[in-house]
Amino acid sequence: MKDNTKVTHAGNHPFDNHGIVNPPVYHASTVLSPTLEARIARTAKVRYGRAGTPTTFALEEAMTALERAHGTVLAPSGLAAITMALSAFVETGDHILVTDSTYTPTRNFANNTLSKFGVEVEYYDPMIGAGISNLIRDNTRLIWTECPGSQTFDVQDLPAIAKAAHEKGVVVLTDNTWSGGYFRKPLDEGVDISVQAATKYIVGHSDVMMGTIACNEATYDRVKQSSSSFGMCCGPNDVYLALRGLRTIGVRMDRHHESGIKVAQWLQSRPEVTRVMHPALPDDPGHEIWKRDFTGASGLFGFVLKESDTNKIAAMMDHMELHGMGSSWGGYESLLIPSWPERSRTASEWETEGQCMRIHVGLEDTDDLIADLEAGLERMNKA
Ligand SMILES: *Cc1c(COP(=O)(O)O)cnc(C)c1O
Repeated sequence: MKDNTKVTHAGNHPFDNHGIVNPPVYHASTVLSPTLEARIARTAKVRYGRAGTPTTFALEEAMTALERAHGTVLAPSGLAAITMALSAFVETGDHILVTDSTYTPTRNFANNTLSKFGVEVEYYDPMIGAGISNLIRDNTRLIWTECPGSQTFDVQDLPAIAKAAHEKGVVVLTDNTWSGGYFRKPLDEGVDISVQAATKYIVGHSDVMMGTIACNEATYDRVKQSSSSFGMCCGPNDVYLALRGLRTIGVRMDRHHESGIKVAQWLQSRPEVTRVMHPALPDDPGHEIWKRDFTGASGLFGFVLKESDTNKIAAMMDHMELHGMGSSWGGYESLLIPSWPERSRTASEWETEGQCMRIHVGLEDTDDLIADLEAGLERMNKA
């Protein structure tokens, strides 16, 4: 079945619930056993609230279908999904490889928490490709990837990294948030685990925190066990809203794709902009690999202004009508924030003269978005 069919139906079992289309929101901690025999056997699928309910199973099932995985583990935020996935594979004395372009809180977890438990963290140039092989040691347990990278949108060669890793028995994980699992299928490319901040495109409405860890067969039990032992679970209303968001991900992503490219091309034509980081633009350094590995682009990308004067940039940012200044992204609305990629790089160069920006192109009409950006750039020029 194609993705749009899957995301419409996967996880729903109407006739388990009076024919009602959506799964019920089960608020549960205590679950009773009908007999002592059943209690001792512990074979019931629903045993305790923390271990999952039909509400959570529905979202897990739907995400497993979307990511073409063996199974999915939910987490209460994207960052929790990342920390659970990483923790599942490492112990004291291990070494891990993390892309230099990763989401900064992922980096902070590796530096502050994994290091504290004696795991050695090494950052690598996101463009390393098959060359990652040279960095793999006997005690390397996993390779963390993110594509395209946060802030800089570098496109990694995941199939090449996965091939090199598997030759040496190393697990490969990726942060697949940007594609929503809709524009990319990392598990088909040899990646073992695809993690998403479902907070972004799965939820899609800027109102719920959620994370998903979609695993292949070889890794699922380990991740499930690890996250259970940490006591990870998600609230049923949030799970319900994530599933509701997922039902429309196809139409939303197709619009983000189209609008994102339009706005990126417009920015590229502006004299105030020195560079646009959007892999769907033919002159982007990651374009060929993006075309090979993705079926579309989301609404999030970067650009660099010629300007670096904060007061002038504030003249633009402080009076935008449609572009809010907020972290997160993947909702229906547009966002614009400044970013400083050079502050969190240690293994690769990132040099720009002017201010780096990150934009999320939402579902508004692109004529209105472009008019808002144009007015902003003019305010900046006059300031
Ligand atoms: C937002 C984000 C996360 C973290 O998700 P939360 O739900 O905010 O914890 C992880 N990875 C990427 C790429 C993100 O943009």
